[in-house]
Amino acid sequence: MAEANLTISKELAEKIRAHGAETYPHECCGALLGKDSDPREILGLFPLVNRRDDSPRNRFSVTSQDVLDADKAARQQGLDVVGWYHSHPDHPARPSQYDRDHAWPWYSYIIVSVAEGKPQDMTSWRLNDDREAFSPEGIDIQQNATV
Ligand SMILES: [Zn+2]
Repeated sequence: MAEANLTISKELAEKIRAHGAETYPHECCGALLGKDSDPREILGLFPLVNRRDDSPRNRFSVTSQDVLDADKAARQQGLDVVGWYHSHPDHPARPSQYDRDHAWPWYSYIIVSVAEGKPQDMTSWRLNDDREAFSPEGIDIQQNATV
């Protein structure tokens, strides 16, 4: 498998980090809207409400309604849902077993670690086709978006 890569503007990367800080100590989550070009481009975000009441600190789950809503938002902007992001409050930015069990192949999964309310590392992952493991994906943060 070729090494996957993702590009995102600094502004959007900061928004993901800010969302993680905002919902701390709970997880934030949202959809990544963009284009599956080479490299895959993130061009917009669609924040979601973490609907898990039982364990909002360390569980995020995307419902089928979330997928429909995110898809609709993407289409309105001429984009596709190319992935999902969520935060790991006081945990490293690595996928958990739960994340693996609930992930789908193809999508990019961005995880931002938030320690004591402050955003730390941001990583991205893709689930292998056999669903046995995630492969890390390089994130290229663009300093200046040309408008
Ligand atoms: Zn997670």
